[in-house]
Amino acid sequence: MDRLSAEPQELRFAVSPRWLAEQQGGPASATGEGLAEDAQFVVRVQKLGADVYLEGELTGVLDLACSRCLTRYRGPIRERFRLVLEPAGDRIPADPEGAAALARTGLYLADELESGWFRGPEILLDRFVGELLSLAAPVQPLCREDCLGLCPRCGSDRNVTSCSCAEARPASPFAVLAALRGPDRK
Ligand SMILES: [Zn+2]
Ligand SMILES: [Zn+2]
Repeated sequence: MDRLSAEPQELRFAVSPRWLAEQQGGPASATGEGLAEDAQFVVRVQKLGADVYLEGELTGVLDLACSRCLTRYRGPIRERFRLVLEPAGDRIPADPEGAAALARTGLYLADELESGWFRGPEILLDRFVGELLSLAAPVQPLCREDCLGLCPRCGSDRNVTSCSCAEARPASPFAVLAALRGPDRK
């Protein structure tokens, strides 16, 4: 990621899968998800008084693993953002990690990624892009809305084959309630 000056202008960056993997600390992240191809990061930067206002979006395609059937698939992402940065001045973020980030990158992000502080003539947006990507990634990836998942008994993919494991499931969820009620009461 290139460095960015606080001038009123539109900037475009390509976010490569390799860059993201490095941000996440290696090619094999815990979730195994990454970018399938270069993502596009577009940001419009504007000075508003002493503040810096950034807005734009991140679009790309993620390489994901379905949470039900474990099949790998590609899912598009589109994450819009608005970020208002105040000059940090002499302030130091309470959390040590935030303080270190401000010193190193000139940027301190508040938790919700909508506001923060900046310091110095340059703001390094690497961490912000990384956070945007994790925000854009689905919490429970699904290869398709009605994915049938894997059979809990034999592990076969129920989207592909129908196994013969019978599921002991009551015909109605209320059958359980009826059983609890007992035979005597109506
Ligand atoms: Zn699936
Ligand atoms: Zn089965």
